[in-house]
Amino acid sequence: MGAGMNKTELQIRRDLFRRELKALESITVECFTCQHYATAHGPTCSMFNATPPADVVKTGCDEWIHDPIPF
Ligand code: SF4
Repeated sequence: MGAGMNKTELQIRRDLFRRELKALESITVECFTCQHYATAHGPTCSMFNATPPADVVKTGCDEWIHDPIPF
């Protein structure tokens, strides 16, 4: 059996995972949240070097990737 945890540790871990899950659930999958999306010279996808179609912008594509620290 692995290392156990007491009630306080269980509560701390639950709170930690709830906060993490809330942050992850707040991320929407769309071009605007994709690391490849840039607006410096008009709406452009650097992955495909093109402007994504409107239906793709709303849902992102299979190449969508998110950088939680954007600087
Ligand atoms: S088309 Fe795909 S790779 Fe390009 S910005 Fe949108 S989600 Fe990202």
